[in-house]
Amino acid sequence: MTTGNLYIISAPSGAGKTSLVKQLTEELDKLTVSISHTTRQQRPGEVDGQDYFFVSVDEFKTMLSEQAFLEHAQVFDNYYGTARRTVEESLNQGIDVILEIDWQGAQQIKKILPDCIAIFILPPSVSVLEQRLRNRGQDSEETIARRMRDAVTEMSHYGEYDYLIVNDVFECALNSLISIVVSHRFHIDKQKEALQSLLQELLSRE
Ligand code: GDP
Ligand code: ADP
Ligand code: 5GP
Repeated sequence: MTTGNLYIISAPSGAGKTSLVKQLTEELDKLTVSISHTTRQQRPGEVDGQDYFFVSVDEFKTMLSEQAFLEHAQVFDNYYGTARRTVEESLNQGIDVILEIDWQGAQQIKKILPDCIAIFILPPSVSVLEQRLRNRGQDSEETIARRMRDAVTEMSHYGEYDYLIVNDVFECALNSLISIVVSHRFHIDKQKEALQSLLQELLSRE
């Protein structure tokens, strides 16, 4: 069986990556989103074990010391990390995995898994980004101001990614994302393995 592809999706907070990724998983099969561990406070409506695994700083540090994370970073004063085991299990089962992580995590993953495919999502403008953070209605004014300030740092790393998408009209951005994921499934390295018996049969008629 061929291993799955690993995708990294980064964007400034509010650009729409969670909404896009959620829809992507509904459109495509054999695709899963890695659920990160975080020490940040749970937002209203978020479900532990579904949106994130919400852990204490102590629990996070214990996992770190056990090398349980594939990558981890501090974002907006909170710790975030991707558990190694679940990602590796899915990839080994031939399932594509999406990591919704920040630029620091993306740099770490690129080093250890250079075949990963990194996608950056941009908002169509600064004012739209701020509007989306407000409309989401889940963060305080102080948190929104902090996220707007940090957005510039996050976006300054766009050049380290393989693909760049502007999330203006949601359906257009979603279609771009689907195209990228689907096209990688037809890559010769994947197809050579997946189509082994067909290729053998087609070529054995000489
Ligand atoms: P949202 O992006 O506005 O929904 O806010 P979140 O609190 O969910 O995420 C804040 C930031 O943390 C975003 O830039 C995410 O990409 C990043 N993030 C989330 N999970 C992880 C993770 O497991 N590792 C790393 N490195 N970053 C993460
Ligand atoms: P992120 O995960 O990047 O922080 P979200 O997916 O939570 O972003 O999106 C932030 C807000 O913007 C949400 O309220 C979402 O419904 C909205 N949103 C996302 N994409 C679009 C879009 N293309 N047009 C309008 N609103 C959008
Ligand atoms: P400090 O007291 O310096 O803030 O943290 C001490 C411990 O935090 C270190 O052992 C370090 O491994 C751990 N740590 C946990 N998560 C993170 C993280 O996301 N970023 C950084 N820089 N350190 C972290």
